[in-house]
Amino acid sequence: MLTIRDLHASVDGREVLSGLDLDVPAGEVHALMGPNGAGKSTLANVLAGRDGYDVTGSVALDGVELLGLAPEERAAAGLFLGFQHPMEIPGVGNMYFLRTALNALRRARGLDEVSAVDFIGLARGQMALLDMDPSLLSRSVNDGFSGGEKKRNEVLQLSLLEPRLVVLDEIDSGLDVDALRLVADSVERLRSPDRSTVIITHYPRMLELVVPDRVHVLRGGRIERSGDRSLADELAVAGFDAGRPVP
Ligand code: ADP
Ligand code: MG
Repeated sequence: MLTIRDLHASVDGREVLSGLDLDVPAGEVHALMGPNGAGKSTLANVLAGRDGYDVTGSVALDGVELLGLAPEERAAAGLFLGFQHPMEIPGVGNMYFLRTALNALRRARGLDEVSAVDFIGLARGQMALLDMDPSLLSRSVNDGFSGGEKKRNEVLQLSLLEPRLVVLDEIDSGLDVDALRLVADSVERLRSPDRSTVIITHYPRMLELVVPDRVHVLRGGRIERSGDRSLADELAVAGFDAGRPVP
């Protein structure tokens, strides 16, 4: 489903990704790990089409080349990115924001728009699953939300939009154990044969709750190692430097 080939990305003249290859087949959940500053968020941002990066290479989703498309066209193609640091948007109502995003995608998919009344029912149902306070819907997007509320709001958006490819950047950071379990349950609930998920995480904790099909280590601008879930356990014990030749 997701095929990344020879991806290079530079920011401020510094190459952060240098020839990265990655395949995520349909229906699979992959974990992307790696030390701080390895380029994990850069990869997520480049996939989503954030500007400020010089990018070459190829990123195909269901055979559609994403590089060169605008962020909203990538979303219409099925991509969703949950941010490591969700943005606060004072003055834009959360409900309005989420419904506008959903209806933009539905239009792109040739579906009817969801009415305000139907949307509230839909959103409340998902919020209950995430143990979210319904009042968060009537506030401005992430404005004054706690770290955990922001992360849950990302997962709420994910649950409503039902994308083909889910990229979650450190969705587990800032969550306590109970919130982490609810978020992990949502990710598991969304597991489906026609959806792929990339979980970017620093910590193996999340991967005890959402068991990945594959684990990749991003380092030196490319995928340095890949393995099954046991690689996450190994990294949890030994850290990212284990098994590397001494320079
Ligand atoms: P990770 O998410 O793996 O911790 P990042 O992708 O955030 O790593 O960062 C990778 C490297 O790119 C870091 O050295 C970071 O300082 C640098 N970098 C990322 N974004 C920018 C930016 N906008 N300007 C300058 N340097 C950046
Ligand atoms: Mg990051």
